[in-house]
Amino acid sequence: MSAMEYFHSVHLDEERCQACTICTTRCPTEAIRVYQGKARILDERCIDCGECMRTCPQEAKMGRVDPLDDVFRYPYAVALIPPSLYSQIPPKQFQVDSLVNALAALGFDAVADVGHGAEHTAAAYKEYLRESTVRPLISSACPAVVRLIQVRFDELLPNVIPIESPMETTAALVRELLQQEGRDPEDIGIFFITPCPAKVTAVKQPAGRSGSNIAGVLSMSDVYQELYPRLNHKGNPQGRRLFPLSRPGVRWGYTAAQAFEVRGTHLSLEGLDQVVEVLDDLSLGKLPGVDFIEANACPGGCIGGCLTVQSRFQGQVNMHRNIRALSTRNPLPEGEFQRRYQNGFYRMALPLESRPAQPLHEDMGQAMQLMLQQEELLRKLPGLDCGACGSPNCKSLAEDIVRGWTTEMDCIFVLREVVQNVAKELWDLAQQVPPTLHKRNQIDDTES
Ligand code: SF4
Ligand code: SF4
Repeated sequence: MSAMEYFHSVHLDEERCQACTICTTRCPTEAIRVYQGKARILDERCIDCGECMRTCPQEAKMGRVDPLDDVFRYPYAVALIPPSLYSQIPPKQFQVDSLVNALAALGFDAVADVGHGAEHTAAAYKEYLRESTVRPLISSACPAVVRLIQVRFDELLPNVIPIESPMETTAALVRELLQQEGRDPEDIGIFFITPCPAKVTAVKQPAGRSGSNIAGVLSMSDVYQELYPRLNHKGNPQGRRLFPLSRPGVRWGYTAAQAFEVRGTHLSLEGLDQVVEVLDDLSLGKLPGVDFIEANACPGGCIGGCLTVQSRFQGQVNMHRNIRALSTRNPLPEGEFQRRYQNGFYRMALPLESRPAQPLHEDMGQAMQLMLQQEELLRKLPGLDCGACGSPNCKSLAEDIVRGWTTEMDCIFVLREVVQNVAKELWDLAQQVPPTLHKRNQIDDTES
């Protein structure tokens, strides 16, 4: 058990798990083991990326979210609409105000587009790129990527832009506006409609801040089921849109929008395979000459999140069509942006901290001993990284053995060798004739 208690949105339904081990080899942080017939998630290593939810054939992994009814716990409820929600709506059903009306029917008094916060974030990124000498700078907008860096690539933490995510920036702008209007802060309930489990964790246990402005996180698929039948409601909006909506902000729902906004020499990454490959390269000092890296854990960006309803390809088609109805840009007042930037409105309040794996032992000397044992064991294992043992690869199995979680016999190749040796010994033993029987055989031979 780790010293710190971690919140995780992603969890396992044991009843459904068939111990197939598929998820163990897909997890980017080697956080899953299959022991005693069930998958287990190692708390300290999970980054809530949702990759195991995406790949489990039994749908045994799921994301923990808040119930829709929580909206009614607040006298003034605000829905934060992420750009990816616009990719879910078929173009025939899309009207700029249809979402506001439909969300009002679900109990929301107002809506705020995270795309608006994204425009602030883009401007803050540009400013930070101008003033920082660190290169490349890595976007902090995807919470799964930020956690991945904390857990597996902590040497790259200085490269992460210490600017809040569009989600948190939008929530802060909402609170500021409503409080200026005289609302009691206790009455305001801000709810984010999430495309992925990583953003649930980013709210419940934020990185770079001590708490969130967001009261609850609703699953996009849960909300969409309720929204869809209400999308064709015509007439004036019943709810209120707090900020203007524009194409550049909504484009943040898919890959390359951030890099397009920020400019400079950049890479746009989508999916954990690409992200891990590039972070591996960066930690080896490769990839010089890159200014900015936009990294999205989900394929296609947030439109590919595992709590969305549409396929990411359908989402892309819908998004292209739907954003045509939006205004091309909504420039932020320069003076206001500079004032906010200078007073730290956009900055993370706390430094991002490393979250390395638990050491093999509290005592340095003992830990070194165990590390040597681990290397020794690894040399004996077949090195096929098949995952059949329930650990993601041979290196993890060697580590799990020295941690006392399992034994060498979980490796089917080691087990086969042991069984072969035992069989051989039994055979050799069977050939050995006991002395008394040996004499009897000799007598029989003479008599015949
Ligand atoms: S993919 Fe993982 S969680 Fe799903 S059934 Fe297989 S072992 Fe269990
Ligand atoms: S959510 Fe991601 S990090 Fe966590 S166990 Fe699943 S694949 Fe691994």
